[in-house]
Order: sequence, then structure tokens, then C-alpha cells
Amino acid sequence: MISKVEKRDRSMDKRTTISRPTEGAAGKTGSWRDQKPVLDQKKCKKCLRCWIFCPEGAIVRKEGDAVEIDYEYCKGCGVCMKECPFKAIIMVREGEVYENQEECAKEEP
Ligand code: SF4
Ligand code: SF4
Repeated sequence: MISKVEKRDRSMDKRTTISRPTEGAAGKTGSWRDQKPVLDQKKCKKCLRCWIFCPEGAIVRKEGDAVEIDYEYCKGCGVCMKECPFKAIIMVREGEVYENQEECAKEEP
């Protein structure tokens, strides 16, 4: 039997905010960032907590409850990192490229 909660989940949009992020007068909000979240898919348990808490609707819920960060609109606030109970998200300096979290952690002071 499917609970009411499960029914509601299935009908939800892929983003939690009422409206989807769109380009404003100052351009896409991702350009405002100086810190960037990096998600380690190997550590992610698909709990969707980051998706629920991201104030920008910049976490996208994919097939099978996998999540992705939409860097075009992520403002780098760090809420997703703070809310992730599995430490699957870390914040790095914008403009630095990391293959994965392990490499990133090595370079952090
Ligand atoms: S850093 Fe902030 S805006 Fe970017 S994905 Fe995380 S919660 Fe959303
Ligand atoms: S909060 Fe962490 S574990 Fe949960 S879906 Fe987001 S990245 Fe994955």
C-alpha cells in the first residue's frame, strides 16, 4: 500500500521551490558565487535533505533520487553542505577544479 507521503513525493516537481530559478537582470545567479559545493556521489545516500533545504532550488532531483547541483543558479551559500548528514558535499573555492572530493580534501589546508 502506498502512503499519502509517497503519493505526494511522486507528484512533486524535480525542484522543491515553488518557482524554478531563472536568469534575472544581473544574469544567472551562479556567477555570484565565490565558494562552490562539490558533491561526492559515492558518499551520497540519496536522502534528499540537500534538495529540500537548498534555498535556490539549485539541487536537481534525478532518476532514482540521485541529486545534482545546478551550478548556473547555485549561489554557494553552503546550506547543502551543512545539511548533508553523510558529508557528501564540501565547499571549495570557486574556479578551482577538483576531480573528486578526495583530491579536494588533500589540497585543503
Ligand atoms: S551552495 Fe546553497 S545554493 Fe548552492 S546548491 Fe548548496 S544550498 Fe543550494
Ligand atoms: S544530503 Fe547528502 S546524502 Fe543526502 S542527497 Fe544530499 S548529498 Fe546525498
